[in-house]
Amino acid sequence: MTTNSRIIFNEMPHGLPNPKTALIVDDTQSIDLDNVPLQGGILVKALAFSLDPYMRNRMRPVEIQGDIDAFALGETITGFSVAVVLRSETPLIQAGQHVYGFMHANALGMKGLSLQVLDNKYNLPWRYYVGILGMTGQTAYYGLKDISNPKPGETLYISAACGAVGHMVVQLAKAQGLKVIASCGSDQKVSLVKSLGADHVFNYKTANTAAELRMHGPIDIYFDNVGGPTLEAAIDNVACNARIVICGMVSQYNLGTDKTYGIRNLWLLNRYRAKMEGLVVIDWADKYLDEFHDVVPRDLAAGKLKYLEHVYNGMERVGEALVDLLIGNNVGKSVLVLEDGV
Ligand code: NDP
Repeated sequence: MTTNSRIIFNEMPHGLPNPKTALIVDDTQSIDLDNVPLQGGILVKALAFSLDPYMRNRMRPVEIQGDIDAFALGETITGFSVAVVLRSETPLIQAGQHVYGFMHANALGMKGLSLQVLDNKYNLPWRYYVGILGMTGQTAYYGLKDISNPKPGETLYISAACGAVGHMVVQLAKAQGLKVIASCGSDQKVSLVKSLGADHVFNYKTANTAAELRMHGPIDIYFDNVGGPTLEAAIDNVACNARIVICGMVSQYNLGTDKTYGIRNLWLLNRYRAKMEGLVVIDWADKYLDEFHDVVPRDLAAGKLKYLEHVYNGMERVGEALVDLLIGNNVGKSVLVLEDGV
């Protein structure tokens, strides 16, 4: 029998989760790798697990509706993983292949067939598939398509610009001939984002966002990762016919629903004929996933795209990694790596 570690949702947070107790690792389960019944599916070993801000929204009582299921207290959490296939009972997937998709956070597990078999033709590290080549890369890529509708010479503002989605948006926007204004939460991140080609980068903790946008705007596209007063400052500085992409509102996730920030200047959307639209990554996969798979691995392998990632080695670092994301201690995509060298 082999120990089958898993990540459990252990404690309902009020405000910021406790990094030591909200998510914990349980080592009490084991699995017989050779004989566990697969029922026509596959047996996989997890290699890397994605940590994402939306996980904070899943830490709520299951009775409260949300756009994605709540984590059940005491149960294994789910998220995006990349895994290697150990055994297969289907001709569609062979042992030794790698798969990506939404999985339980178990070291080892039996899976159905809704996973994507990876064709890693540029031989990139497998863990990249939970980051720039997975959901967060896709979010940036899709968000810069129809909703942003960018035209060369326009000005885009991106918040949380040194994060998983943000640093990809910076690079894609520059490649499309946009002027990029970017904000992030430390001077180290400012330097990194400048090195990716952004035209003007500021530390929103030490600069005044509205003043920066007044000076370097107006903004044709705002790619909103943080919400709250930053969104309000962006609306104050939109150009005529601006597009605001509501991707996420990480500044609000640890506040109770009664404490979220009320945006006060929505009327300006009328004055400036601006539009604001929600982006949900899965909605755009049918249209752009094939193109994404053609373009992004190729550009990454060729060095045209740079990837910033924050690797946490070992399942037991999950709580720390999630909280880092929520307070800005991560630099780039947060990834929990479960096996050396993947
Ligand atoms: P990041 O890697 O960007 O990590 C989150 C970052 O948010 C932190 O590093 C921190 O950066 C910033 N942050 C945290 N708290 C605050 C705050 N109070 N004010 C401003 N910034 C803050 O995460 P992702 O790239 O994975 O996600 C970015 C956003 O995109 C999130 O809102 C997420 O929910 C959303 N998202 C939406 C998807 C969709 O389909 N709509 C899919 C994927 C992500 P800093 O140091 O700069 O403060």
